[in-house]
Amino acid sequence: MTVKIETKQQAEDFLAQYDYFLFDCDGVLWLGDHLLPKVTETLNFLKASGKKLIFVTNNSTKSREAYLKKFAKFGLTNVSKNEIFGSAYASAIYIKKILKLSTNKKIFVVGEHGIEQELHELGYSTIGGTDPELTNMPADFNALEAPFIKNVDPAVSLVLAGLDTRINYYKLAAALQYLHDPAVTFLATNIDSTFPNKGKVLPGAGSIIQSIAYASGRTPRSCGKPNQEMMEAIKAEHGFDPARAVMVGDRLNTDMKFGRDGGLGTLLVLTGIEPEARVVDLQGTEEEVKYYASKLGDLYELVVE
Ligand code: PLP
Ligand code: CA
Repeated sequence: MTVKIETKQQAEDFLAQYDYFLFDCDGVLWLGDHLLPKVTETLNFLKASGKKLIFVTNNSTKSREAYLKKFAKFGLTNVSKNEIFGSAYASAIYIKKILKLSTNKKIFVVGEHGIEQELHELGYSTIGGTDPELTNMPADFNALEAPFIKNVDPAVSLVLAGLDTRINYYKLAAALQYLHDPAVTFLATNIDSTFPNKGKVLPGAGSIIQSIAYASGRTPRSCGKPNQEMMEAIKAEHGFDPARAVMVGDRLNTDMKFGRDGGLGTLLVLTGIEPEARVVDLQGTEEEVKYYASKLGDLYELVVE
């Protein structure tokens, strides 16, 4: 059964069920460049009620530190680094705590600073990534002479790929040299085909990862929503009971699937991309959400105001 949270009693019953609140950000807290109504009040109220909050994003280009700045830009200053879980950090935690990769091993990165920063914070050395040698591929690129293709580093035992807005042929070719070896693990930060950006739809990390997957004939595990590697990483860090946790999001096929597959409760808010009719239609199916509300701020308005 799906419950629309519309009364004070329904909001209180919902809140009483959960100690951990996992949030998607765009479409839930903000939409594009504006904060949604009563978000600050709701987050402060949840915290004051003793709830633990975790902000979960598939965007791998930003580290947790960079994401904090984004929160601050919206005036959300009551948020700390350890409450943020981006797919770059999720990947780093997954590598360290689940795959238990020794920090003596190196990681070849296809991606931006966010990925490098999170891996370095957990003690890993990276190669590739934003190295100017790779990014500034010469116009007369010659694979046989290219250092990253000639000199494969035997200490590399994992390739981590995410969104790289400066992707080029040299980076793809260098990543491929490592993936020829089946002992080298292939991991993706997330496999979103696209992402929304200021009213445009742009190619996501998945569009780059697919070309590496195609060339290598290998399929990576993904540390982004809805894949449970992300959930395993969050649990490894925060250790919550899924029955006492809820995933709040605006997308059925990522956020709601992520929560449902992890055994968490689900709350869909209608401030993002899903229309109410779709949520109602899914009642009684495998994809049914547990709760939905017009907006996140309804929790505060119904219970406190
Ligand atoms: N990937 C990139 C590069 C993004 O910029 C975004 C959203 O801004 C996403 C993925 C999707 O992230 P989220 O899980 O927060 O919707
Ligand atoms: Ca969203």
